[in-house]
Amino acid sequence: MTDLFNFSAGPAMLPKEVMQQAQQELLNWQGQGVSVMELSHRDPAYVKMARQAEQDLRDLLAVPDDYEVLFLQGGGRGQFAAVPQNIASKSATVDYLDSGIWSGYAIREAEKFVNRVNVVGGQQQQANGKALTPRSDWKLSEDAAYFHYCPNETVDGIALHQIPDDIAAPLVADMSSNLLSEPLDVSRFGVIYAGAQKNIGPSGFAVVLVKRDLLGTPQTELSSIMDYQIQAKSSSMYNTPNTFAWYLSGLVFKWLKEIGGLQEMGRRNHRKAELLYQYLDQSEFYRNEVQPEYRSIMNIPFQLADKKQELRFLQQAQAQGLSGLKGHRFVGGMRASLYNAMPEEGVHALIQFMDEFQRKL
Ligand code: PMP
Repeated sequence: MTDLFNFSAGPAMLPKEVMQQAQQELLNWQGQGVSVMELSHRDPAYVKMARQAEQDLRDLLAVPDDYEVLFLQGGGRGQFAAVPQNIASKSATVDYLDSGIWSGYAIREAEKFVNRVNVVGGQQQQANGKALTPRSDWKLSEDAAYFHYCPNETVDGIALHQIPDDIAAPLVADMSSNLLSEPLDVSRFGVIYAGAQKNIGPSGFAVVLVKRDLLGTPQTELSSIMDYQIQAKSSSMYNTPNTFAWYLSGLVFKWLKEIGGLQEMGRRNHRKAELLYQYLDQSEFYRNEVQPEYRSIMNIPFQLADKKQELRFLQQAQAQGLSGLKGHRFVGGMRASLYNAMPEEGVHALIQFMDEFQRKL
């Protein structure tokens, strides 16, 4: 089917122009006579492309010069383990906001590597919907090595839009599902990491931005491929990187620059999300359970008033070219992920389908 809109939470829709370019040059990249997948990562043409991808990412996010940009393997979860081992000692206390399913996993992983993970707050179920513990109630520890949070919880559709600005410890953010979705002040963070398979490229790959002055003494058992300092010194080629993922991510960065960068991307993303939330809010039939202040612009979960209709909804949506709408297996319901590559027409098509589905019942 050519006109399918893919609402999958990840691996997710990638820009069509990028996929077309990759297809067109798959067998013969840059006149080399071989695929980019078949070329040494030490080949000068590959190295040039890889460096350009890093530069494009730096340009998009205006990454300050005192930050390393790393392209690593192991996706988002790899970083759940890499962060504590790289920037906290075994005897350290670290602070985590438990805002949803992914923060929970990050906490349980960090517990293996530090003395104490202090959970400062989490989700709250209030009469008017799901929210997060307000900043004034966070129970921060005195001496945390860092403060970790996930600004966009992919499963729950909950976001913390404000960057906490009064925390002494370096901020660490899991931005797997929101990096590159809108402008970001990187200088406010010590570490930003993201699994690639939403707004960046293929899965199993990760982008890490880390402030150089945090790279002191990693834990001794830290594996070399996860060691930020070793990877920084080797320009993320300590071991053979995922060359295809790096290449494809580079195409995505170029695409983002061409459409006008993160300002324009953010404008489009906010508009798409607004359209769907507006529709959900006026409906008696569908509902989103997150308070407006905490709503994600990337992942929008919704429920049907009549749960028995869910399967029919998903089948009919798929038949009409709207795929990937099934909610996460832990929470059920539906979820529309509106990442960068989803055009506004996809949101209009979804709303039209939802309207018809309801009317035909
Ligand atoms: N963090 C967040 C916010 C995610 O959404 C995901 C994946 N959906 C992960 C971490 C884990 O990423 P991966 O599967 O690449 O390890």
